[in-house]
Amino acid sequence: MDLGIRGRRALVTASSKGLGLGCARALAEAGVDLVMNARGSDALEAAAAQIRGTFGVSVETVACDVTTSEGQRAVLDAAGDIDILVTNAGGPPPGMWTDWSRDDFIAALDANMLTPIGLMKASLPGMMERGWGRVVNITSVSVKSPIPALGLSNSARAGLTGYVAGTARQVAPHGVTINNLLPGIHATDRAISLDKGVSAQQGIDIAEAQARREATIPARRYGTPSEFGATCAFMCSVHAGFMVGQNVLLDGGAVNATL
Ligand code: NAP
Repeated sequence: MDLGIRGRRALVTASSKGLGLGCARALAEAGVDLVMNARGSDALEAAAAQIRGTFGVSVETVACDVTTSEGQRAVLDAAGDIDILVTNAGGPPPGMWTDWSRDDFIAALDANMLTPIGLMKASLPGMMERGWGRVVNITSVSVKSPIPALGLSNSARAGLTGYVAGTARQVAPHGVTINNLLPGIHATDRAISLDKGVSAQQGIDIAEAQARREATIPARRYGTPSEFGATCAFMCSVHAGFMVGQNVLLDGGAVNATL
């Protein structure tokens, strides 16, 4: 299917690896020029070179921490007039509800709620003026089904979800859509680090920890960054203009719910 976005320009934050990279690659495959970001420049430059070589699109890179205001300024300055914004950042650490301080919550809110809100606030006016835009926020299955050890993530992402629900309806009249894409367990570095946590906690090896987590998913496997990216690219396509303020869950059926 032609996604109808060849020649468009996208900013994809936190995109040197994992789900962000899956989204960047899928957009590049659809002919979209990219601005990519991560803190570490080695993986970022390698990913950008690979995408340029494979898809022939233009890719600019900005190595910075997107959860800081200076980082947001840097990516937005490099991005300029974008048609597509995909927001992503690392997830907060796991822990216990008894451990989290006010500072821990402020850090989580900054990273996973206020950073995407800041990027949207800066990018939406231009999209609205030009009459076309797509925003996809990478959030988490945890907004539909809480992950107790990830209380910081549950909280911050719920706040972002509420913001998107209202804002998406305010910008939709201008041809701009905002939606969230909710990953369940996907095979990325983040999943491996969570497997390691399960392995240490339950005294089992990492393969067994992965097998136990896979057994909780009806699809009996982790998702892949490329299938996640393909869904993201569709949500950024011309075909998704009637999708407004939705929370699209990609979890292999793990959330046991009718709606
Ligand atoms: P990942 O494989 O660890 O990749 C994270 C990417 O983000 C890397 O490119 C990393 O590069 C970059 N990054 C992290 N923090 C950043 C920052 N402050 N500024 C700029 N770039 C940053 O993670 P993932 O699995 O793709 O997860 C992406 C998001 O989805 C996370 O928020 C995660 O919590 C959420 N999620 C993932 C899963 C899953 O199963 N994978 C499930 C639910 C939710 P640098 O380290 O070089 O910055």
